[in-house]
Amino acid sequence: GQTVCAPLPVLGRDVTVPLVTGGEVAYAALDYAASAPALQRVWDDVAAYAPYYGSVHRGAGYLSQLSTDLFENARRTVAEFLGCREGDQVVFTRSTTDSLNLLARALPAGCRVFVFETEHHASLLPWQQAEVTFLDAPRSPEQAVTALERALAAREPHGPALVCVTGASNVTGELWPVRELAAAAHAHGARIVLDAAQLAPHHPVDVRELDVDWVAFSGHKLYAPFGSGVLAGRADWLREAEPYLAGGGASRKVTRRADGGVDVEWHEGAARHEAGSPNVIGAHAVASACKALTEAGFEALVARERHLIRTVREGLAEVPGVRVLSLFGDDAPRVGVISFVVEGWNSSHFAAALSAEYGIGVRDGLFCAHPLVRTLLGGGPQAQGECGAPEAAPGERSLNAIRVSFGAGTPDEHVERFVAAVG
Ligand code: PMP
Repeated sequence: GQTVCAPLPVLGRDVTVPLVTGGEVAYAALDYAASAPALQRVWDDVAAYAPYYGSVHRGAGYLSQLSTDLFENARRTVAEFLGCREGDQVVFTRSTTDSLNLLARALPAGCRVFVFETEHHASLLPWQQAEVTFLDAPRSPEQAVTALERALAAREPHGPALVCVTGASNVTGELWPVRELAAAAHAHGARIVLDAAQLAPHHPVDVRELDVDWVAFSGHKLYAPFGSGVLAGRADWLREAEPYLAGGGASRKVTRRADGGVDVEWHEGAARHEAGSPNVIGAHAVASACKALTEAGFEALVARERHLIRTVREGLAEVPGVRVLSLFGDDAPRVGVISFVVEGWNSSHFAAALSAEYGIGVRDGLFCAHPLVRTLLGGGPQAQGECGAPEAAPGERSLNAIRVSFGAGTPDEHVERFVAAVG
């Protein structure tokens, strides 16, 4: 295959791992969907600042001012990266999971939530305090839109509603019709939050263009593995909600009352939900990754990834007994996340063999999306089977799958080694 452009420099390429067959080999990290290796640029930016961190928004000294500037500049960079609207808020969190839990706590009274059963658990589960409608797995993007429209139209009473949808599946890599789902949500008076954990590292995410109300993503999947996440979007629900965490930084004024209690005035901006000393290095790293991806250009990144996807899919297609998991069909547009099962193989043993014999790191299991993987494996969303459970007896269906995933730093050699190993 033809290499479209060079991979971005990442850390960890020079890690060598021992092989059970003897000798050692350069480690091939093909588990980007779990955590992507740090871009060299992110590491350099973090290292330049790391010796000088101070407390954000609290100190009068030079290092506190430096850290506060860095933190607030990171917020502006992320807002720009996401194409935020006037008045939108960028809240720094720990992760996508944290971001979606924060939004779940900010739902207005009586809000109904609509979510496909195909979601990652981080976008499937935080809404349990509200009334949730779980939608069955659609078999095409069009079916997803129709199912959502029907469910929203049928809701009674016609109060506040939120749709939560993932932009790119962490299991199949397939892209979801975010713009169309957002249009459907808005046409029915609902709002929509985009889980961009798998989308943002691979495609531009523009809240205005997609017309989503909020977007959530994680730094460690965006080549910035320093414990930071983002929730960005409409300010109103966030402003009206109780603070996510109670504590310093979120409170503007705290006074003792005559009756012995305490009165608190909370901040209204992002600080309302960022109590405690924030992860300034994490925020700085996320901003650095946003800049690096923007400078590299998503067009070039997408073209290169398409080439890697083709190499993997064509390679897997030639191996007898390999079945690639897909909800929307072989031709659906996707990111570099591919799950499959191999007939006669326990997926956990298969992944362990890739590591021990070839120095390739992939993931096996149900990928924190149990109903989706069970549907894809043919047992239906209620089928049994735990993450990492042993394979069924020979001839029975698999209980888990293998996932290979890659991105901006992946060299051709890694996916070529993977294809050769599976073959
Ligand atoms: N959503 C999707 C689609 C994901 O793939 C993941 C991580 N696997 C998450 C949410 C959760 O991300 P985090 O673990 O960083 O909170």
